[in-house]
Amino acid sequence: MNFLEERILKDGIVKSGNVLKVDSFLNHQMDISLMEEIGREFKRRFQDKPITKVLTIEASGIGIAVFVAKEFGVPMVFAKKSKSINIDGDLFVAEVESFTHKNKNQVVVSKRFLNADDHVLIIDDFLANGCALQGLISIAEMAGATVEGLGIVIEKGFQIGGRVIRNLGYRLESLAIVDAMDGETGKITFREQ
Ligand code: 5GP
Repeated sequence: MNFLEERILKDGIVKSGNVLKVDSFLNHQMDISLMEEIGREFKRRFQDKPITKVLTIEASGIGIAVFVAKEFGVPMVFAKKSKSINIDGDLFVAEVESFTHKNKNQVVVSKRFLNADDHVLIIDDFLANGCALQGLISIAEMAGATVEGLGIVIEKGFQIGGRVIRNLGYRLESLAIVDAMDGETGKITFREQ
């Protein structure tokens, strides 16, 4: 069992609706030593790739992506959620359905911060149905950038996102894959990796 799986078993809470709550160490209060370890682990896994930018989506991806970008010594860019319907021509835009809030958001990245010379590592906290990652992939592709890989902290392997992204041919690395979780007993089962 790796450092993250141990922490999930210790402090993760299984909620109804297939939601795993990890807000005591990952996406509300953040354990900075753990974040540093996550950053180092993604660097180790993607060290063979010529990464020039780390791309994520607000809000909960940002804190993690910062530590990954620091390891690579490159900028971190986050897609912003935009309420405005009048999107101007200087932005790459994708539509993303939120797993936790069940609403659709347009997410945008300025054309100034992503271009065809970029080699992008996409980072997010969770992977469920894959909408967030697909939105980020489409933004990177609109820019003509190369998606070198995707790094996820917690993949819920019983939801379809991981299969969809891997079937598209992308290299997807998840630090922990939850294959089953039981809202009544709180039991969490990880995939052997
Ligand atoms: P997807 O787009 O893959 O369906 O969902 C991924 C996004 O939804 C992530 O950015 C994450 O913020 C949120 N999310 C999905 N599942 C969970 C979960 O079990 N717990 C938490 N805290 N966030 C989740």
